[in-house]
Amino acid sequence: MAKKEFKSESKRLLDLMINSIYTNKDIFLRELISNASDALDKLYYRSLTDKKVKVKKEKLEILLAFDKEKRTITISDSGCGMTKEELEENLGTIAKSGSLSFKENMTKKEKIDIIGQFGVGFYSAFMVSDKITVTSKSIDSEDAYVWESEGADGYTIKKAKKEDHGTEIVLALKEDTEEFSYSKYLEEYELKSLVKKYSDYIAFPIKMECVHHELVDEKEKKYEDKKEIETLNSMVPIWKKNQKDVSEEDYNNFYMDKFNDYDKPLMVIPSSVEGMITYKSLLFIPSHAPYDYYTQEYEKGLSLYTSGVMIMEKCSDLLPDYFSFVKGVVDSEDLSLNISREILQESHNLKLIAKNIESKIRKTLEEMLKNDREKYISFFKTFGVQLKYGVYNNYGQDKDKLKDLILFYSAKEEKLITLSEYVKNMKKDQEQIYYAAGASIEKIHSLPQVEQVREKDYDILYLTDYVDEFAITAISEYENHKFTNVENGELDLESDEEKEATKKANEDNSDLLKAMQEEIKEVSEVRFSNKLKSHPVCLTSKGDVSIEMQKVFDAMPNEMGIKAQTVLEINEKHAISEKLKKLYKKDKEEFIKYTKILYSEAKMIAGLPIDNPTEISQLICDVISK
Ligand code: ADP
Repeated sequence: MAKKEFKSESKRLLDLMINSIYTNKDIFLRELISNASDALDKLYYRSLTDKKVKVKKEKLEILLAFDKEKRTITISDSGCGMTKEELEENLGTIAKSGSLSFKENMTKKEKIDIIGQFGVGFYSAFMVSDKITVTSKSIDSEDAYVWESEGADGYTIKKAKKEDHGTEIVLALKEDTEEFSYSKYLEEYELKSLVKKYSDYIAFPIKMECVHHELVDEKEKKYEDKKEIETLNSMVPIWKKNQKDVSEEDYNNFYMDKFNDYDKPLMVIPSSVEGMITYKSLLFIPSHAPYDYYTQEYEKGLSLYTSGVMIMEKCSDLLPDYFSFVKGVVDSEDLSLNISREILQESHNLKLIAKNIESKIRKTLEEMLKNDREKYISFFKTFGVQLKYGVYNNYGQDKDKLKDLILFYSAKEEKLITLSEYVKNMKKDQEQIYYAAGASIEKIHSLPQVEQVREKDYDILYLTDYVDEFAITAISEYENHKFTNVENGELDLESDEEKEATKKANEDNSDLLKAMQEEIKEVSEVRFSNKLKSHPVCLTSKGDVSIEMQKVFDAMPNEMGIKAQTVLEINEKHAISEKLKKLYKKDKEEFIKYTKILYSEAKMIAGLPIDNPTEISQLICDVISK
């Protein structure tokens, strides 16, 4: 039978894996045991919901065996098994995302990041084996199949014989090298301690035939080796254990195994709730975003158990969208075992648990922000966008829960601060909370409009994420202070005299300004202003849609045509004003050129595209070559 090739990206990943970039090879065992446990979970759940599937709970187990002569380890389970198609689909593709970027000469960290993007899983077994043989019989099939592979150059699938449903995986261990003794996995003691270390909490028994040195004759002090099947794991789920009996390392190992992460979590949140509703939960905040987090494919949810039996792998109703990054397990006896998923959604108890969980996560984050700023900043840099998104999503219904958890860059402090910190440090005469939006801190910092506010010694929040301004708009005010975009036309920071002078300049030159606006119809107004200090021009906006918001709308796939109402402001004190006035009187043609150039300058500073760059470039050359 011809060998089938792995899909090309899978092949490269497999190469990385086989060449064993992970220093910790031991984890292959926990990965395979974890898969076996999932298969048992699936089977048991099926038996509760599908009358045709009958299983005896005592038969749900994982068997571990080793053979020193043949140099093999065998992991078998009596779970749901895989059909031929499933073997092909599940073990023929590693990288389901299909968009991993490989580079030549990757550093070790880059390699680990790539592998980390999809979790190590089944393929980690290639770190220790030359050949892997998987024999499986699905509960949905009469036939069994065997999948076999010696690594990156492909695999075969053939029909096989197997009595019962389930999966048996045989690993042919690599030969020992100078650096590593693969033979250690052929020691009873080693396997026992690996199970204890990584898989103790698995809810099904992991059994192995162990040899006991038994005293058979007291007088003669005679010992005999006796074989006995032993259960290696305590089977107490980690979330059911007393918190003080579980080490940080245990929690971290559980997290990395269960949620396929190569990094330990940023935060572990265990809790045990009794009262109106009784449940135990173990939640984690990852230290980095999963590779698919900001894509459509990402599914939020917590694993839901009732009395230690998993009834749903990702129960999305347990998490609000703004905490979708949280991973974890919830176990409650107050949920019925054979409840259908549809009914579960409507369950009052489930809603109660979800509410508790939301507030637990929120409190944990609030405390982190208060007590461990550095950690919170690291969290916020990874998942802050999600919180800000939560502020404005659903018409801002959750904004009050989240507004104290979001941070923005402060121009004055030069770091991320909370809204409450901003308000605390406001100047005596300051009424409003100022912000400015743009593509980067540097770009915002050099905006002409920012100058005037900074001169007053008012702090400005610099917003660089596309969601920021929408979040700010949804909050609309904080402790009775309104948010004001410095880009907005009517900032009202001038003194009465200044205002008067500007008013006069605009009145005296109303014809000129009108003539300019005739040339650049896109803008709703052209005016002289006092707010600019050194710059000649800037573009501001009127109304609810700012220029930055317009950019976000413009970038959306189905353009909605939402536009900001823009105003071209000209610095009255700048020499260009006099020049314009002169040209308006003497040379209309030149005046129009200047108008177009100045408008393009303002657009450029605002980061807006210039529709007619060739024309503008011509105009500039015309003017400067005079
Ligand atoms: P993951 O477990 O993260 O999905 P793996 O590479 O470890 O990734 O496994 C891929 C898939 O193969 C699993 O999702 C599961 O559907 C299937 N699988 C692996 N081991 C078993 C097993 N022992 N029994 C049934 N299915 C299995």
